[in-house]
Amino acid sequence: MADDRFHVYDTTLRDGAQQEGLNLTVADKLVVARQLDGLGVGFIEGGWPGANPKDTEFFRRAQTELDLKHAQLAAFGATRRAGVKAADDPLVAALRESGAPVVTLVAKSHDRHVELALRTTLQENLAMIRDTVSHLRAEGQRVFLDAEHFFDGYRSNPAYALEVIRTAAEAGADVIALCDTNGGMLPDELAEIVHEAVQTSARVGIHCHDDTGCAVANTLAAVKAGATHVQGCANGYGERSGNANLFTVVANLQLKRGFDLVPPTALADMTRVAHAITEVTNVTPNSHAPYVGTSAFAHKAGLHASAIKVDPNLYQHIDPAAVGNDMRMLVSDMAGRASVELKGRELGYELTPENTKTLVARVKDLESRGFTFEAADASFELLLRDTVHGERTRHFEVESWRVIVERTKGGELVSEATVKLHAKGERIVATGEGNGPVNALDKAVRLALEKLYPELAKLELVDYKVRILEGTHGTGAITRVLITSSDDRAEWATVGVAENIIEASWQALEQAVTYGLLRAGHKTA
Ligand SMILES: [Zn+2]
Repeated sequence: MADDRFHVYDTTLRDGAQQEGLNLTVADKLVVARQLDGLGVGFIEGGWPGANPKDTEFFRRAQTELDLKHAQLAAFGATRRAGVKAADDPLVAALRESGAPVVTLVAKSHDRHVELALRTTLQENLAMIRDTVSHLRAEGQRVFLDAEHFFDGYRSNPAYALEVIRTAAEAGADVIALCDTNGGMLPDELAEIVHEAVQTSARVGIHCHDDTGCAVANTLAAVKAGATHVQGCANGYGERSGNANLFTVVANLQLKRGFDLVPPTALADMTRVAHAITEVTNVTPNSHAPYVGTSAFAHKAGLHASAIKVDPNLYQHIDPAAVGNDMRMLVSDMAGRASVELKGRELGYELTPENTKTLVARVKDLESRGFTFEAADASFELLLRDTVHGERTRHFEVESWRVIVERTKGGELVSEATVKLHAKGERIVATGEGNGPVNALDKAVRLALEKLYPELAKLELVDYKVRILEGTHGTGAITRVLITSSDDRAEWATVGVAENIIEASWQALEQAVTYGLLRAGHKTA
């Protein structure tokens, strides 16, 4: 477990998930949590159990499916409702029963919000904090408090805002995280207020939003003023302008301020982690992101080029290797190497040095063409098997497929797919209808194979992600499709890349079915 003297607290799965256009399934959240744990963060806020069924499920599945090495899970929730006991409040019960060792309670610290939004008295709000914190502490959980709208609240009524901190700390909250919920603060004033909050002798944390473009600067200013707990999100995800970018915060504190927050080897993996998370969130990575962007250490040829050759340090603020980046990083190269070395072992395959070399070369080649294996474990495993066995894994051979999309006179869109394939010595032709071309193809393939492989009835397509990748070297844009499938016991993801979206989908679909059949114990034909 991480050192408790300074907390790195990630809220990607709760606050970061508020970003417009960002939707995470429970499986996605588990993948992101594993990546963050690998990076060495101390706490991962998983969501709001009880208030959101998907988050309740996340905490349930996390207990058996997440084997965290560094981080502890935190469940997020509110203080009890006004006028009831914390012990009787069903939402507080959901936090208690989440299985998370830490609960982060959000509480109002702005007097006007208490009266207008919560519609209760200032005294009752303090009682709600005291009762909920002490109840959860007594039940054995560690409690942090997110003081919502703290800075605006301090401006409105400093005595009350500080009283909220004192009340929570006296009731047993370990940390009071001061939240710049509206994100409007600038570093100088924020630091002064944090300094006042630290005088209460409570342990103070900081939670910033980037509405003034100062979320990271504000976080650093708060640390200088005495905060010992920083909150933020992977890649700066979050609603509006986003939350403080946790990667930037950690790199700044560790490389510029000498904090010992995550293992140096994990920090040197940060660029890969940042990109791996974008594959799951399906948010295009920001190439200009500090430290981890592909352009973060890229220099235009010309003026700098000759001097860089003599001494690269003249033109860069850190050694890019410290965060796993490069003067001109090829994400694919790095991701490929890491995928092969780590995942091969994870999957339990004994790879000879020769196999490893071949596989690294294949992964690099495929990733340079737009494939990604960070988010497509099943495709990676198929590639690995093919390399080890020296032949392609397949249970069926495709002769041809065809998809028709028709807009009927009534304006209805209907898709129909026909697949012709060979399996177990038979030639099979099947037709499927669906609400879209990929759905129709999926149905046709399964219809074709179900008689030979009845287990396919259980196979389900649970998620479908598309990303258009910019073409390189004069080629047009290409489409990458990631498909997540499940068989009621596990989920797996496959990837396809092509200029045509249906072809990309087909590739991912074919692998999804192949992997499903392998899981069901079918040796290849
Ligand atoms: Zn927030």
